[in-house]
Amino acid sequence: MDRWSFSTLVLDPHDMVTLPMLTDELSPTNKDVNDALSVGILGSGPTGALLALGLSRLGCRVQIHDPLSADQISSRSRAYAITHSSRRLLERLDLWTSLQPYLVPFRQLCLQDQWSKPSVWFRIADLAPANRNADAIGWILDHQPLMQELLKRLDREANVALQLGDRASSGVGQARDAGFDLIVAADGPKSSHRQAWRLPLWSFPYRQGCLTLKVSLRGAAPATAHEYFRAEGPFAVLPLGGQAFQLVWSAPLNRCRERAALDPSTLLDLLATVLPSGLEPEALLDQPVAVPLQWSLAPKLARGRKILLGEAGHRCHPVGGQGLNLCWRDVDELIALVAAHQHAGLALHQVSARYSCRRLVDLFLIGAGTDVLLRLFSNSWRGLRPVRFVILLLIQRLPLLRRIALQVMTDGPMTILKAPPEWKQRGFRHGVQQ
Ligand SMILES: Cc1cc2nc3c(=O)[nH]c(=O)nc-3n(C[C@H](O)[C@H](O)[C@H](O)COP(=O)(O)OP(=O)(O)OC[C@H]3O[C@@H](n4cnc5c(N)ncnc54)[C@H](O)[C@@H]3O)c2cc1C
Repeated sequence: MDRWSFSTLVLDPHDMVTLPMLTDELSPTNKDVNDALSVGILGSGPTGALLALGLSRLGCRVQIHDPLSADQISSRSRAYAITHSSRRLLERLDLWTSLQPYLVPFRQLCLQDQWSKPSVWFRIADLAPANRNADAIGWILDHQPLMQELLKRLDREANVALQLGDRASSGVGQARDAGFDLIVAADGPKSSHRQAWRLPLWSFPYRQGCLTLKVSLRGAAPATAHEYFRAEGPFAVLPLGGQAFQLVWSAPLNRCRERAALDPSTLLDLLATVLPSGLEPEALLDQPVAVPLQWSLAPKLARGRKILLGEAGHRCHPVGGQGLNLCWRDVDELIALVAAHQHAGLALHQVSARYSCRRLVDLFLIGAGTDVLLRLFSNSWRGLRPVRFVILLLIQRLPLLRRIALQVMTDGPMTILKAPPEWKQRGFRHGVQQ
């Protein structure tokens, strides 16, 4: 089993079931289409589109709606930090190789604080051994090639009906009436479906926003990403290939908006004063966008056959680049549970209930972790500086601490307790060879 192993689908913690892999033998040609589970997905962003592909490969009949056209969906200017948990999912869905030309690896991650001296370098050796052969700590992937590839694949899937650019069919209530076995809202942070389904959302807005922009920089070390903690907020510098970089610059929201409105040369001058030393801005490559930030979480991610996926159900601060990776871990869990329904008799109502239960722990731990990090490092309170110094010094000096921190960030906190199936197949337990 090299592409998708269901060997760890656990219906009962003590009852391991082994299921076929997600390849051609489960394609709709081998399955009675009328028996297939029907799923309506509202929203064809990176989360909804990836779920549609995964469920279609399981033989489900999928309808996916989005009020935006394919061009509008693909044309957003953003780039995502991709972690190892996302890599594994993309590999299982046979997308990794096609996306390879657009994935920009970083092999070093430098963590610096404006006030404390020690800078921490994470390198390949700090990854769990099971991840090291991928030869990168993470990757940066531009939104456009990602969405173009996902929509192209969906277009080819016989059992996916893509309804894009159709505002009428995306309205709240349309899918509910269509009699799907499962209805998934992947319609982003302002999810109208979450509101219509009366699923509550806990939301803690930050005073901070973030400015996202693409720039060309001189003086950057190759394949290196930076997370720089400044008093006004964290500042991430992510390589996009060559001299191009994505910057995610957090600061009070008003300040972000003022900066977004500056003319390019004034903004570049300002950037030169805040970038980590050695990096010099040369040119702006896109229009900066200021976005408000919040930590939000729906305490119930499902009700009956209605399910919240991706940013429709949660959002966290961009520090650590967790956002899309958390959304894709939702996708991973839901595909595994639908597979358990189809091949191991898990009742349909259990799919949504277990999805909600299982995802909440990961989402809460990452949301709370980024929130604590932010409160600790995004302020100029002198009393905290020694604490920051000691934390950075410990991470700098102790390889085990670096390994655990990197595993939490790139594989997810749950892998500390339970290894992903790929690790087990390759003889790794908790990322370490047996
Ligand atoms: C301006 C901005 C910049 C960002 N920059 C970064 C970044 O640099 N790095 C990073 O990792 N993350 C970034 N993010 C976060 C990242 O975009 C999200 O993590 C990711 O897009 C979540 O994917 P999603 O599919 O859940 O939601 P979305 O990408 O928001 O997709 C939701 C989709 O649902 C559709 N939709 C809306 N209403 C309906 C409806 N009623 N019915 C059907 N469909 C509907 C929308 O048209 C959209 O296509 C940024 C977000 C924003 C807003």
